[in-house]
Amino acid sequence: VAGTLEAIRDRLDDALAFWLGDAVPPVHRAVAVSGWRRDPDDRFCRRCGESVGAGEAAAIEGLGDAGGCAGCRGRPAIADGVVRLGCYRGHLREWIRRIKYRDRWTEMAAHLGAELGHAIDAARVAARGRSIIVPMPMPWTRRLYRGIDHARVIADGAASVLHAPVLRVLSRSGGPTQAGLSRSTRLRFRSRGMVVRRRPGGWQLGGLDIVLVDDVLTTGASMRAAVRALRGVADGRILAAVLAVADPPSRHARADSESPGRAVPTPDRGLPSLPGRVG
Ligand SMILES: [Zn+2]
Repeated sequence: VAGTLEAIRDRLDDALAFWLGDAVPPVHRAVAVSGWRRDPDDRFCRRCGESVGAGEAAAIEGLGDAGGCAGCRGRPAIADGVVRLGCYRGHLREWIRRIKYRDRWTEMAAHLGAELGHAIDAARVAARGRSIIVPMPMPWTRRLYRGIDHARVIADGAASVLHAPVLRVLSRSGGPTQAGLSRSTRLRFRSRGMVVRRRPGGWQLGGLDIVLVDDVLTTGASMRAAVRALRGVADGRILAAVLAVADPPSRHARADSESPGRAVPTPDRGLPSLPGRVG
């Protein structure tokens, strides 16, 4: 009977979508139909967030310069640790694009934010009761244009699971986006317009762990700039928590060869320059 009711409900959803021009399916249904699940801890590097093979995970010794995966060892760490839901491809990529660009899909952003909260909790990287959630800032001009501050909605979702406050510690002045800038120009924009509020809402940041939340980690440049800015006011750990990490293409090949039956690979790197594809 339950199955029949579900089938009827789905038919009604489809009919309503047809008549009302509903752009997005209910989140619970989209997730259930996809079969998507967040990555287990041993599928990504805790230091850089990129995908690792099952054998490689055991070799990541710690988050310092001597630790990390083959891709990040010896390179400066982005933050004091990275937590992610998955790599930027398949269903997760499609949902994030619909959150940001097409549909302003707030419900999905909140749902994936809560998933991220569970992932952070499971990773035990941020101290319970001594952590704050900080959304990655977006220039107000882009917020106006997009109509959704997706990092804020994701942060709220994570906070609902972690019972931690969301504080806008960072803001960002409007400026040129990364797309279209030469490498030398990009380097000159290292601070990326990050502005720190030293006592947001009257909070003292000393002694608190900071969970910096964003949707996608691509080059890591914006995340690094944010972490640098936060180091000036916070002495606790700073964790980067993102819905997805855009792996370099070589990683895709490895992840696919080691786990048959995963999502069909989609070309992530050859995207046309979408607005706001900032690392
Ligand atoms: Zn790594």
